Amino acid sequence: SPWRATVLTLFPEMFPGPLGVSLAGRALAGGLWELEARDIRASATDRHRSVDDTPAGGGPGMVLRADVLAAAIDAAGIGPDRPKLLMSPRGRPLTQARVLELAKGPGPLIVCGRFEGVDQRVIDGRGLEEVSIGDYVLSGGEIAALALIDACVRLLPGVMGKEASGTEESFSDGLLEYPQYTRPQRFEGTPIPEILTSGDHAKVASWRREESEALTAARRPDLWARIPSKVPNRGGRQK
Ligand code: SAM
Repeated sequence: SPWRATVLTLFPEMFPGPLGVSLAGRALAGGLWELEARDIRASATDRHRSVDDTPAGGGPGMVLRADVLAAAIDAAGIGPDRPKLLMSPRGRPLTQARVLELAKGPGPLIVCGRFEGVDQRVIDGRGLEEVSIGDYVLSGGEIAALALIDACVRLLPGVMGKEASGTEESFSDGLLEYPQYTRPQRFEGTPIPEILTSGDHAKVASWRREESEALTAARRPDLWARIPSKVPNRGGRQK
């Protein structure tokens, strides 16, 4: 069966949203992947259908109830082979390496938090892996889930036009991508770098490698420090 994302959310109408168009949307319509958005509120038990309550110990906002969320997770019937993720600013920052792993598997369950977050006991009790999409706070997990799913779906077999486009881009080799150019040949007085139109594939490849290294060293010293095979002073050019 195709790769599947099962999303638990209080706003199922936010899905597929932007994933219903372009590359991901065509692949969804073509059955290359599946999306199931399940309403957490359907697992509420009281007559007000409440899903949240005030935080124990006081403080602002509301917390998603453990009993309601656990029931929603259990009702989704997720097999043991599928990762169970919780979108959370406290999570491990999402990387292209984790995206690749997730894309290779059967597809995750993704819990979208709201309010001040979710009761810790459901995170522990259901073994949720907290995943962050960056060091900033969104109002809910839905946009984070859409970002994660988008990053996975474009790597699924048959989704991207040219298979190669996933292997040469930013992070695939631990580096940021080299600059890209296309026609017109001259734009506001600046031509495309001559080497790219030279037809010399080896020279193009080494130019791109050097540009990638220089960009990574200048913009992302954290990534640059993790490149094992780097040659001193290659990529040291200022950007
Ligand atoms: N009080 C929480 C904290 O300080 O960690 C923030 C809760 S946030 C307003 C509500 C929900 O949005 C979170 O439970 C999470 O699901 C989602 N969210 C917010 N920022 C996120 C991020 N950077 N990555 C992933 N999910 C995020």
